[in-house]
Amino acid sequence: AAFMAAMAALIVALLALFEWLPSYTAPTWLGITAPALVLAPVCWAAAGYCCWQRRDQNDIFRMFALMSAIMVLANLAILYSTAYDDAPSMIAHFGKFAGKLFFLVGLMEMSAIEMAERLRAENELHLLNIDLEHRVHERTKQVEQSNDALKGEVMRRQQAERRLQSQLGRMRLLDRITRSVGERQDIASIFQVVIGSLEDYMPVDFASIALYSPEQNAATIAHLGVKTRPIAVAIAMPEKTRVPVDENGLARAMKGELVYEPAMATVPFSFPRRLAGGGLNALVIAPLAIEAKVFGALIIARRQADSFTSIDCEFLKQLCEHVSLAAHQAQLRENLQQAYDDLRKSRQAVMQQERLRALGQMASGIAHDINNAISPMALHTQSLIETGGNLTPRIRSYLEIVSRVTDDVTATVARMREFYRERDEDTPLGPVDLNKLVDQVIDLTRARWSDLPQRAGVTIEMHADLAHGLPPAAGVESEIREALTNLIFNAVDAMPQGGRLTVRTSLLSGAAERRVQVEVIDTGVGMDADTRRRCLEPFFTTKGERGTGLGLAMVYGVAQRLGAALEIDSEPGKGTNFRIIFAVAERAEKGQAPGAAPPVSLPPLRILVIDDDPVILDSMRLVLELDGHTVTAANDGRAGVDAFRAAHGTAEAFAVVITDLGMPYMDGHEVARAIKHTSSSTPVILLTGWGRRMSGDQEPPANVDRTLDKPPKLPELREALAGTLAMGGQ
Ligand code: ADP
Ligand code: MG
Repeated sequence: AAFMAAMAALIVALLALFEWLPSYTAPTWLGITAPALVLAPVCWAAAGYCCWQRRDQNDIFRMFALMSAIMVLANLAILYSTAYDDAPSMIAHFGKFAGKLFFLVGLMEMSAIEMAERLRAENELHLLNIDLEHRVHERTKQVEQSNDALKGEVMRRQQAERRLQSQLGRMRLLDRITRSVGERQDIASIFQVVIGSLEDYMPVDFASIALYSPEQNAATIAHLGVKTRPIAVAIAMPEKTRVPVDENGLARAMKGELVYEPAMATVPFSFPRRLAGGGLNALVIAPLAIEAKVFGALIIARRQADSFTSIDCEFLKQLCEHVSLAAHQAQLRENLQQAYDDLRKSRQAVMQQERLRALGQMASGIAHDINNAISPMALHTQSLIETGGNLTPRIRSYLEIVSRVTDDVTATVARMREFYRERDEDTPLGPVDLNKLVDQVIDLTRARWSDLPQRAGVTIEMHADLAHGLPPAAGVESEIREALTNLIFNAVDAMPQGGRLTVRTSLLSGAAERRVQVEVIDTGVGMDADTRRRCLEPFFTTKGERGTGLGLAMVYGVAQRLGAALEIDSEPGKGTNFRIIFAVAERAEKGQAPGAAPPVSLPPLRILVIDDDPVILDSMRLVLELDGHTVTAANDGRAGVDAFRAAHGTAEAFAVVITDLGMPYMDGHEVARAIKHTSSSTPVILLTGWGRRMSGDQEPPANVDRTLDKPPKLPELREALAGTLAMGGQ
């Protein structure tokens, strides 16, 4: 505002000055005619000088300086004008115009140059900018890359750390498990502790151990973890479940490889599918093997798919190696214990056999004595009943009772004798009437299948299903009897809740040969495959302390010895069928069983009776004399033979000799030999209290025409006398 005001004041002052001053004068200083304008060139000159001074600062100053020079000249010219339109004035105006034009053109050129300059600069700037941007980009990329690398490194470190941690954890778990396994000695508890630890500390949702049986190519779930059991039950796979090892994913494990399945629902095998049914997804099966023989597998599963790391698998593999070793050791220990137990049992069994043998001999001796004792009684009673015409009916009935009781005692003693008969390896196989034998064995074992169970409130129905007209079996009666007894005992043991016990005989007529079979069939607990396979082994028993495991071994031995086949059918829960199949005895049984033989009438005979027992001697003499015979008694073998020889060839010669078998100095056989030596045609009847040998129904011994059991019954005695005389007479 001050400047404007100053300028305005200056303009006014100048206007006033120019009005006052005369426009033109006569030529004055230096001939100047317009002195009022004398300052104009001076001002231009000053301005020009100032701009020239600054010409390097800006081209506009140079331009303005040059224009100022032209203006100075133009304004100098006007100083010499005398009118507005004279030549100097025109020149001055033209000069002024030219000066301004020059300046304008100069300015325009300058601005054009500047424009071009600016454009170039702008262009340059643009290029620079692009370059810069590019470099920035590059740099950013580098930074990003190194950032990524750094991040990766950090991740790797973290992963390594985590891996290390988890490895450490697994190692601790392994240590813990092996430690607790080391404290145990039986396989079952070793497995249980392993499974329990895995469930608790690994942890897993499903842990079990399956044992592999190569013969059946099947695995059996043997142990389940406590937390696993509900799942196992839900998918119907509790303990003892048998899983066949075919193409179901178990096969590879049973070949010794560790199997890992991250998502079970997607595989086509039945076993993982079954587990998947229980909500399980990831599965590891690690084989348990001893010396490259797989005996089972550890089966581990988790609900979460893909949840086992390679560290887990390595750990399970290692664990399985440890567990296998421990199990192996435990197994060895158990085997040792078993061997020791077997040894103890066999010692007991030998002792038992020894005891039985002693008992048998004792019983045999007792039987002999009893026979000797009751022989005279039986004979006297019978002869009294037959000949005592003047007996009162009461006394007769007493005598009949005595006779009957004596018969009972005889039968009991006979059974006792047969039961403890000694074995003779060379004895040929005789014909055995199986039907009779079965009846006898059922009778003998009655206490075991009837009385004892009844006392416990259990009923066992016994059925004898006997084939009619069964040919005799080739065998040894006592041995078959023992075998059947054992089979019946086993059948009773198998039916603790009662049931039906059938003993059946039948004839098998095959193409080649006829065979006879006896079966013992029960409706008891039956046997599983393993028991069935091992039941014949000596000492194999499922009855614990109660069993000896020798029964079936003995049955098997008998079958072997007799050339018979032994067959077993059994099904758990249904029952068992034991069959012994014999060849038919070649020779049919000789003679008919002596029924009620008709009374035999004999001519009076001279009979020599030899026995060391005076009571028997007396009673024999008595009954024979009552029959009208003449009897000479000798109380030992020597005396008997002497008497025979003395009488031989005379009218007093003996028609028959009856001798006891067991006598001191000279026994019945020797007596028979001596008699036959003297007179081969004289019949010899041998009395024996020992019963017959196994080949009972066969030929009498050498030199003996007939054997008779003690105590001899009167009809048998008569029949024997008649029989031998008939033979001798021919
Ligand atoms: P023990 O009777 O002393 O056990 P055995 O040799 O007689 O010995 O029998 C061996 C095993 O065979 C028995 O422990 C039992 O497991 C099995 N067994 C034998 N007979 C039968 C049967 N009739 N039913 C079921 N199991 C049987
Ligand atoms: Mg038995």
